[in-house]
Amino acid sequence: MRTKIVAGNWKMNKTFEEADNLIVEILDELDEKGKPDNVDVIICPPFVYLEMATDIAEESNILVGGQNVNENDSGAFTGEVSASMLQSMDVGYCIVGHSERRKYFSEDSTLLKLKVDALLSHEIRPIFCCGELLAEREAGHHFDVVRTQLEDSLFHLTPIQFLQVVIAYEPVWAIGTGVNASPGQAQEMHAFIRKLITGKYGEEIAGETSILYGGSCNARNAPELFAQDDVDGGLIGGASLKSEEFIQIIKSF
Ligand code: PEP
Repeated sequence: MRTKIVAGNWKMNKTFEEADNLIVEILDELDEKGKPDNVDVIICPPFVYLEMATDIAEESNILVGGQNVNENDSGAFTGEVSASMLQSMDVGYCIVGHSERRKYFSEDSTLLKLKVDALLSHEIRPIFCCGELLAEREAGHHFDVVRTQLEDSLFHLTPIQFLQVVIAYEPVWAIGTGVNASPGQAQEMHAFIRKLITGKYGEEIAGETSILYGGSCNARNAPELFAQDDVDGGLIGGASLKSEEFIQIIKSF
């Protein structure tokens, strides 16, 4: 069966010392209380803390991911980070297509497709974010929006490649707002996504694909969200910055 995953997206938060402390606290608490065997825990700190994170995580049972990647392999792209660089630092996952990147950095489906390809060619698993704006949901277009996002950036992949992808459904209106999708809304969209994958890649691959929920997920609402049949965990923003809350979310299954 598919893997349950709780991934923390730290975004642009924490000083070096705070980041170091947070990782150590997460590991200490997981050591003390035990990490559930059936849950993969991934932390996605800012690039500048990846080396520290991978060094600490090497001895542990947590995984490390990036928050972004450039689509090119190397060259004159000042300020950017490539998939080959991430691979050389033992980074196993990378978020792609987060709504903040789509909005503030104008990342579109064509670019995201190239980023997904770059990651896969360096054996890094993309955590691909999709999700609709509030206006799109209110207009009843949310299913079409998500379908197009998946078709345009992921459905060119071979079945073997697609098996490496983790999907995160993140309704934009729920990100950082304190208003999460209801468990029913999340389940409805996750089931829709799984059906799309079934149509493209077949039931077996769809059944193996982890689909995470993201958007104001916290220790209080995670148990009910994660109890939905097609919700395989969460991509957690704000609540991943506090070790105790993050651990509680990990233990919500
Ligand atoms: C996110 O940014 O991926 C996210 C889910 O944020 P938050 O949990 O803060 O809504």
